[in-house]
Amino acid sequence: MKYVLFIAVTIVFLFGVGGKAGANVGSEDSLVIRNIFSEALVSFESYENLRYLCKNIGGRLTGSESAENAVDWVFKILGEMNLNRVYKQEFPVRNWIRGDKEYAYAESRISGKKEFNVCALGVSEGTGDKGVMGRIIEVKSFDELKKLGRENIEGKIVFFNRAADQTGISTYNGYGGSVDQRVRGAIEAARYGAVGVVVRSATVSLDNFPHTGIMRYNDSIPRIPAIGISTMGADELSRMRTEDEELTFYFRTTCSQNPDVISHNVIGEIRGTEKPEEVILVGGHLDSWDLGEGAHDDGAGIVQSIEVLRLFQKLGIRPRHTLRMVAFMDEEIDQKGGRYYAEATKNEKHIAAIESDGGGFIPHGFSFSGTREQTEKLRIFKEFFTPYLIHYFEKGGGGVDISFLRNSGAALIGLVVDSQRYFDHHHSANDVFESVNRREMQMGAAAIAGLVYLIDKYEL
Ligand SMILES: [Zn+2]
Repeated sequence: MKYVLFIAVTIVFLFGVGGKAGANVGSEDSLVIRNIFSEALVSFESYENLRYLCKNIGGRLTGSESAENAVDWVFKILGEMNLNRVYKQEFPVRNWIRGDKEYAYAESRISGKKEFNVCALGVSEGTGDKGVMGRIIEVKSFDELKKLGRENIEGKIVFFNRAADQTGISTYNGYGGSVDQRVRGAIEAARYGAVGVVVRSATVSLDNFPHTGIMRYNDSIPRIPAIGISTMGADELSRMRTEDEELTFYFRTTCSQNPDVISHNVIGEIRGTEKPEEVILVGGHLDSWDLGEGAHDDGAGIVQSIEVLRLFQKLGIRPRHTLRMVAFMDEEIDQKGGRYYAEATKNEKHIAAIESDGGGFIPHGFSFSGTREQTEKLRIFKEFFTPYLIHYFEKGGGGVDISFLRNSGAALIGLVVDSQRYFDHHHSANDVFESVNRREMQMGAAAIAGLVYLIDKYEL
């Protein structure tokens, strides 16, 4: 039966969806999807949810009280939706605390002392009350660092200042090409005896917001403190370093590592009418960095996932498979939520998992991984979305949280949204509710709901 329907859909595409094909599977589905978009666009509910999450709860650093407030809030929202099941999964997470507002300045023999807007990088060691001070060594790569060697670096502060490449059409190219400085900079600089690192923010925007994000240490190398500096700050620091090669830099951070605390994923589901034991997952991550409100990253993904459930309920669409929304915890630091979920559900069958974690921007389509059969079917679904200018259906990543389901047999799917403005906000104080547009975000929720509808009906 499933195969017959699938063939019917394929035939409809050959003659065009919404054309003069008459009453058939394809046009009926087009109508359902049209209704999903209409309902999403007239509703303000998920946008109000985002406002609450951003303004009343705010940044939700894993392990923080605020993250647990967000857990309680999602649990409450789902509890009020008349779903078949709402529950939490519990596991320990890291508890890194940022401490006091970071402080930094450079002192030049030419232009004097200048303060900089900086932030500790995620899970960095603090400097302690005294701070660290040293001559600045500016580099653009780990190779350059290696060439300078211990004789030039020992006791100094290494300033990683390789700018993100602007030429990529996707801004992830620029980010991906520069973020190694943030993630591994402290390890590489400490190898040669540096006492601290300052890292240019991994973003294509030029502004005064320092961006944080995860960094790593290596057990065999001293753990030196690391801070991020805004792109404008980095340009200014570089200029000062050019005018005075003996430029000194000082920074103070009081961040600290504390014993693990308990945190949670929050899950809500609509039980399937025909195959309740088979799951279609939609999700995002509930934790965020603490400098902003976690609006695009990833409050949008959370409220969109809740919205998918609401759209199904509101339109009276009863899914054949269980439709499950997951608010994952700890994506930004150790991905404990994604790991725990995959382990806890290893005996369940997932047909597909869809994650929204690219911000609440206008959707372009989906990227996915899976078997050849799964990806071919997903490509066929593209035709339903082209009327909404959503037509990127290509192989690619699904999302960090759902990546742990890679051996589950599920197709892993990521909502692909316009990336041009994402890194203007990402991991910075500029990731606030006001930067999310209601209609753009709702278009994303509708796209996910539409895809869930098709996967539920035709399977993969
Ligand atoms: Zn994210």
